[in-house]
Amino acid sequence: MTKVEEQIRADIVEAGRRLYARSYVASNDGNISARLDEKRLITTPKSVCKGFMTPDMMVIVDYDGRKLSGARDASTELPMHLEIYRNRPDISAVVHAHPPLATGFAVAGIPLTRAVLAEVITTLGSIPIAEYGTPSTKELPDAVRKYIKAHDGMLLANHGAVTCGTDVFSAYYKMETIEHFAKISLVARMLGGENLISRDEVERLQGLRGFYGIPSPAPLCADPAAGTGDQVVCQVLEAPDSPDERLVPDTALSGRPERGGTGDARGSMSASRDGEIRLTYGELTALIADAVRTLKD
Ligand SMILES: [Zn+2]
Repeated sequence: MTKVEEQIRADIVEAGRRLYARSYVASNDGNISARLDEKRLITTPKSVCKGFMTPDMMVIVDYDGRKLSGARDASTELPMHLEIYRNRPDISAVVHAHPPLATGFAVAGIPLTRAVLAEVITTLGSIPIAEYGTPSTKELPDAVRKYIKAHDGMLLANHGAVTCGTDVFSAYYKMETIEHFAKISLVARMLGGENLISRDEVERLQGLRGFYGIPSPAPLCADPAAGTGDQVVCQVLEAPDSPDERLVPDTALSGRPERGGTGDARGSMSASRDGEIRLTYGELTALIADAVRTLKD
């Protein structure tokens, strides 16, 4: 066995251990694969818990899914992995799991396409949902094919998520990013909703991908219909046009009223966008003094 093959087997074992330790998979769920060379892939075996694999359990297959070596059989989701390798000559590993928060969004039919976090925009862009396909049938690879040219990670409707990368850990870390993003998005929505990053800022972040050495699967594209055939070739992020505004109004940071006052203590009080009245300490003191004076009269 070559050093390269040994390393890939060890990386798959470690990534599987982390998927299971972080509850991204339960029981025997999930699968991981990586390119060994231009003719062979290494993949996890079926019916094995990803938290307790050993390097010798791996299965070597060709790019048509035929087993070349290994005592066990390859994962039943192998056709989805093969579809990704066929469409993405630039990537060398695929990770599939069922992380509960991201899968919750996938089950609810809510894609993670809002421009909210800089690190998600630079690493993954937007995270769409591939249409539901019965696991281990041709439907799943067909659903994934539509998005994989433009996306390094996606949700799978009523199923889970899949990511790809230049090596096992790059694909694994994208799975972590998706789950982390799903968790933050859920909390933000429970707290009243996300403040979206503006389109200008999104474009700036896309530009930084080169600076950080992150290969971008596809440019941000305003027109979702601009695809070729049945594939999506550009990403669509929900980012509002607001050239003059920061993503979060400055007043939210300083705690001051949104609009300037007239100099009169009560003149500067203002209603924020949700109708809440905000008062400075000075305004509040003036109001109380006023009330006390009225009571005395
Ligand atoms: Zn699955």
